[in-house]
Amino acid sequence: MNVLVTGGAGYIGSHMVKMLLAHGRNVTVLDDLSTGHRDAVAGARLVEGDIGDEALVAQLLAAEAIGALIHFAAFSLVAESVADPEKYRRNNVVKAEALLRAMRAAKVDRLVHSSTAAVYGEPQYQPIDEAHPAQPVNPYGATKLAVERMLEAAHADYGLHSVSLRYFNAAGADPEGRLGERHDPETHLIPLVLQAASGRRKSVQVFGGDFATRDGTCVRDYVHVNDLCEAHLRALDWLAGGGGREAINLGTEHGATVLEVIEAACRETGIDIPKVMAPRRPGDPAALVASTARAERILGWRPTRSDLPTIIRDAWRWERRSVAS
Ligand code: UDP
Repeated sequence: MNVLVTGGAGYIGSHMVKMLLAHGRNVTVLDDLSTGHRDAVAGARLVEGDIGDEALVAQLLAAEAIGALIHFAAFSLVAESVADPEKYRRNNVVKAEALLRAMRAAKVDRLVHSSTAAVYGEPQYQPIDEAHPAQPVNPYGATKLAVERMLEAAHADYGLHSVSLRYFNAAGADPEGRLGERHDPETHLIPLVLQAASGRRKSVQVFGGDFATRDGTCVRDYVHVNDLCEAHLRALDWLAGGGGREAINLGTEHGATVLEVIEAACRETGIDIPKVMAPRRPGDPAALVASTARAERILGWRPTRSDLPTIIRDAWRWERRSVAS
C-alpha cells in the first residue's frame, strides 16, 4: 500500500518514513520544508509543496495511487501559537481542511493524524485517559483539537476513516543515528540537556522548582519517537482492517521530572551537565502522564524503547553526530 506522509521531513515524520520503508511500504513525502530538512528524507520521493494546495494534493494522491495518509505537517510550538494564533489556525486547521477535501476528491479514505496531549489543557487527573475533558489552554492545542473534530465530522458525514494519535512528550532519536531532533530554535528539554552536555550550550535551565511534584519540577511522559512511529504503523493496520474513527493517547503511564531527566542524562553521558534554576514557563502544567490502556486495547501497542536511558542514549548519539558534522 502506498502512503503519503505530510511533514515527512520533520522530526517524527522522518523517523516514520524510515520505518515505513523498512516495512516495505512505498512512501511519498509532501513537505514545504518550512521546518523540515530535505536530507532527513532518504529512500522516498520528496515533493516540496503545500498541504493546503488542494490541486497539488489531489494530483499527487491519484498519480502515486495513495491508499492512506499520515499527516504530520503542522506547526507545534506552544509559545509561538500564543504569539501568533492566526498563523496556527491558517496552517494547522485551514490547510488540514483543504487536505481533507483533496482526499475526498481522490477517494482516499484513511488518515492517521498527529495530535497531542495539549488537547486536554490543564489536567484534572492522572494518568490522563481519552475520556478526560478536552479543553486546550493554548492555540496550538486548540488547532489540533479542531482537526480532531473535523475528522469526527468527516467520519460521520462521508465515512472518512481516521485515527488521531495524541502524543505526550516525543523524545529520542533513530537508534541507527541517521535521524534526530533538529528544531530551530530548540525548545524541548532532552535536546537542550544534551546540547549542554556536548558544550553547544553553557547550561540547561530548569523551568520552575516549586511545582507540587516529588522534587518540585514538572513531570512529563517521554515516549521514544520510534515507539510513536510503531503506533502509526498499527493505526494504519487498524484502518486497513475496517476501523472507523479513534483518538488515542501515546505515552508510557510513567512520568519523569525535569531533574530526573537531567540526572539520567548525566549518567548516560558521563558528563556533569550544568543546570540553572529558572522561573516557571507560562502555561506549563505540573504533570502530564498518559493512560495507555486504549492504545493497548485498540492498537495492541506498547512502548518498548521509552525508558529514559534508551531515549537519552539514542538522542545523545544524534547530538554527538550533530556536533561532529
Ligand atoms: N523544560 C525545562 N527547561 C528547558 C525546556 C523545558 O525545564 O529548557 C521543562 C518544561 O518546563 C517541561 C518539560 O521540561 O516541564 C518538557 O518541556 P518540553 O518543551 O520538552 O515539552 P512540553 O512538555 O512543553 O511539550
